[in-house]
Amino acid sequence: MLKGDYKKAADIIREGGVVVFSGAGISTESGIPDFRSPTGLWNQENFISLASVDALYEKRSEFIKFYRERLSKIKLAKPNASHEIVAKLEKISLVTHVITQNIDRLHQKAGSKRVIEIHGNLDEAYCRTCKSIFDSKILDEVEMCPNCGGAIGPNVVLFGEAMPESFNDAMEVIKRAKTCIVIGSSLSVYPAAAIPETALKFNAKLIIINKTKTHLDGFADAVFHESSTVALGEIYKNLN
Ligand code: ZN
Repeated sequence: MLKGDYKKAADIIREGGVVVFSGAGISTESGIPDFRSPTGLWNQENFISLASVDALYEKRSEFIKFYRERLSKIKLAKPNASHEIVAKLEKISLVTHVITQNIDRLHQKAGSKRVIEIHGNLDEAYCRTCKSIFDSKILDEVEMCPNCGGAIGPNVVLFGEAMPESFNDAMEVIKRAKTCIVIGSSLSVYPAAAIPETALKFNAKLIIINKTKTHLDGFADAVFHESSTVALGEIYKNLN
């Protein structure tokens, strides 16, 4: 286990201009499983086959059932200390934006205002045919779009779908960052992993907090292989 220097990370954050890039690891302590981890609720194969654009069209009932279950679990989740520290850092103007791969809205629930969701969110449903947006509650009631009869699904990026417009916003934001903090992402998914890589290319500092190694550890100014609530808690103490 690699334990970085909390004080060094705090000194970097104190300079401001920080963009947080978060992945599933930040929400596991809120009880939302990371499907990539072996203890995840769904194994990776099942997850990829159901959270896909093929399932949206070809396995409607299984697809809707999968999201009804997923939604009911995620809606009960509450932000944890990591989400709260990130929100506090925005409030004191050190963090400018949060870019998240998560669809659980826990950053917003913790009070973060400038959140860029690059994989969409589970609060909304979306018709792929007529592009109507609904509250995700509609997925409990109908299986097809009430406006056009098309395939309705959660407003999240499915496997096989293109990245949304917000990904371009994230790339613009990261180019201006002084520092990027990766929290709870193994950086194994592209194009999402291109975000911290772009930060490095534009000479930002990099702090990585993730339980396991990432391919960017060697380029980071501080690396913490531990729970994000522990690492962020210690870093936050050193800020004051
Ligand atoms: Zn429709």
